[in-house]
Amino acid sequence: MSFKALGLNQELLNAISEQGYTTPTPVQKQAIPHILQGKDVLAGAQTGTGKTAGFTLPLLQRLMENYDPHQKPRRIRALVLVPTRELAAQVFESIKTYGKHLPFVTEVIIGGASINTQIRQLQRGCDIVVATTGRLCDHVNERHANLKNVEILVLDEADRMLDMGFLPDIKRIIGNLPKQRQNLLFSATYSAPIKALAAQILQNPVAVEVAKPNITSENVSELVYPIAKENKRALLSYLIGSNNWQQVLVFVRTKHGADRLEKQLIMDGIRSAALHGDKSQGARTKALDYFKNGKVSVLVATDIAARGLDIDTLPHVVNYDLPQVPEDYIHRIGRTGRAGASGAAISLVSEEEAHLLGDIEKLLKRHLPQVADTGYEPVSLNTLAPAPKKKPVQKEAVKKDFRHSKPAEKKGYVARNQAPGSKPKAQGARSRSR
Ligand code: AMP
Repeated sequence: MSFKALGLNQELLNAISEQGYTTPTPVQKQAIPHILQGKDVLAGAQTGTGKTAGFTLPLLQRLMENYDPHQKPRRIRALVLVPTRELAAQVFESIKTYGKHLPFVTEVIIGGASINTQIRQLQRGCDIVVATTGRLCDHVNERHANLKNVEILVLDEADRMLDMGFLPDIKRIIGNLPKQRQNLLFSATYSAPIKALAAQILQNPVAVEVAKPNITSENVSELVYPIAKENKRALLSYLIGSNNWQQVLVFVRTKHGADRLEKQLIMDGIRSAALHGDKSQGARTKALDYFKNGKVSVLVATDIAARGLDIDTLPHVVNYDLPQVPEDYIHRIGRTGRAGASGAAISLVSEEEAHLLGDIEKLLKRHLPQVADTGYEPVSLNTLAPAPKKKPVQKEAVKKDFRHSKPAEKKGYVARNQAPGSKPKAQGARSRSR
């Protein structure tokens, strides 16, 4: 099924394809058509299932349906409540990404940020507010935020909001909303308090439940995902979240790449730590302890740093970058140690790395199974392809440096390591987007 078949408009379809997504995730397939029809939805979905786009895309389309460009100042028509500032930033990024071709203004209202700036933003007017409950309550109490025009209310990660004791704030906010509105409640679990909250706020909701983890990949001990390098990070977040992986060792090529991926995964709501040679011993011990005792579920590491790791077996190992030396592949995946059971070694392989995959398969004397449809733009891996040639400009630069007997790096000629698979750094959430 395509995104188009879900009934999304062209502006949204363009934004989706610019993100590189070709297929909706299960929660998107199930939830989007109902939300577009204006129904209340109760969705059981956790981080990593694509749930954010699952409500953001149809929410934007619904707002577009009766958008009045002459309405000044803008009125808050959609409200997304989230448990944490990090999730607020993440949802804001999604609205910005998917709504890039639409005329909406979104504000983020969270604790810890300047209240005066938020007051000014609210006074200027906006269409969508993403908020943590405490700060929004302050604005409502002080009459800085008028919620009387809210048409769509989203409670994201509602179970976490209740766990954190936000129920009274949620009730206060709901008391300020118009009775006639659409309600969407997303929660990873269905505890009794969640059921009670759902019964209170949802009107004839459609229940959407995301299927349990993808069994196929769970059973395969080694699997290759052919994927463009710019899509690697989204695919990794998706695999971790949708399969609910709790302990994943992710291998990257460079220290810089490890730091960057750690930050990006955290932005995606996945608890992560990085381990590499530039970290102090104290920082390494801490990262490893967090990983072992489950405080973080992902450890992003370089080969050298991972070599001394005192972890016997791991359920999941991911090669985010393939190793330059094929023998390292065997060291890396040896850590899963549970072939055929729930252990899985997954390699995200871009076209540029096909020759490295060829080297590994030659060493192993077998082919590694490839996933036919990753949900992203198809990539074909020609494992017989020769290694890409180094850029001649680099040689020139080195030559020049010898002439002037100055280290090349100091002069800035040598290209810095660029971690494959990484997108340009995500911008921090600005509180206003158009
Ligand atoms: P979420 O569950 O909303 O936190 O999303 C998890 C990750 O999945 C994010 O990195 C999204 O960018 C990515 N994602 C969302 N929808 C899709 C899709 N249809 N195809 C591939 N990746 C997606």
